[in-house]
Amino acid sequence: MSDFTIAIHGGAGTILRSDMTTDLERAYTDALEQALMTGYSLLEKGISSVDAVKAAVMSLEDCILFNAGRGSVFAKDGSQEMDASIMDGETLMAGAVSAVRNIKNPVELAYTVMTEGEHVMLNGQGAYDFALSQGIKTEKDDYFFSQFRYDQWKQLQGTDKAVLDHNVAIRDKKFGTVGAVALDKKGNIAAATSTGGMTNKKWGRVGDSPIIGAGTYANNKTCAISCTGHGEPFIRAVTAYDVSCLMEYKGLSLQEAMHIVVHDKLLRIDGEGGMIGADAKGNTAMVFNSEGMYRGMKCSDGRHEVSIYK
Ligand code: ASP
Repeated sequence: MSDFTIAIHGGAGTILRSDMTTDLERAYTDALEQALMTGYSLLEKGISSVDAVKAAVMSLEDCILFNAGRGSVFAKDGSQEMDASIMDGETLMAGAVSAVRNIKNPVELAYTVMTEGEHVMLNGQGAYDFALSQGIKTEKDDYFFSQFRYDQWKQLQGTDKAVLDHNVAIRDKKFGTVGAVALDKKGNIAAATSTGGMTNKKWGRVGDSPIIGAGTYANNKTCAISCTGHGEPFIRAVTAYDVSCLMEYKGLSLQEAMHIVVHDKLLRIDGEGGMIGADAKGNTAMVFNSEGMYRGMKCSDGRHEVSIYK
């Protein structure tokens, strides 16, 4: 069993080997490996799980391949609105932001909401004003521009469809929401998630990622969970908290609880996607019901994996 662990995801969806080029696959694998090592090296030095998940998610937010931070998808009105959250399993403190624009690292803003302590979730312009007051880094629109995201959005323009970015029918171009869970040397767990949401979303649509209990949850007593997938069913299933409840009230293991939620409860309401989880005993799991999930884990007992497909 591991003394400390970290797991990350870069989104789940219709990610098929047949759609991938060798170069693109390597680019994903390298980016996942880098984020994993960023978080793991902090844990190795005895730094907290909260700081490790924040750092791992920031690394993925800075990579244009993933639908979070820099590589966020376009909403129907052509804007890029991002959601993020973080939770500390030791204190049950949490922070979240939704529909924020021009924030370089939304997870850092969520972390600052948490540490500032008065509120749990800030939204839109208010969250942006708070960011400025806290010296959080902002970027102009062109920092967030990428041609492939723009092309994804163009394919849906004029329709009312909002689509998981991996499922937009552009071959070779499949990208995703990001998240991390970790256990540190002191036995504390944490989770964080960050996303640009769904391509062509409208009316200020917010998914599960910034909602504590749906896309993100952490409690030392049970588990730390970060989800990815079609946000609406994940919200309705209170997905991350449901894993925690199955562990707390039914005594299930992390793996058993995640399996029931992903392969039974979510599927019953068409909830496509997956999640990563860690517990305070050193277990780590990565479970999904979609074709693939960009994912990786590194544990102090030597287990180390980065994978994409089923
Ligand atoms: N869960 C995210 C949302 O619905 C999307 C994703 O995981 O890719 O906003």
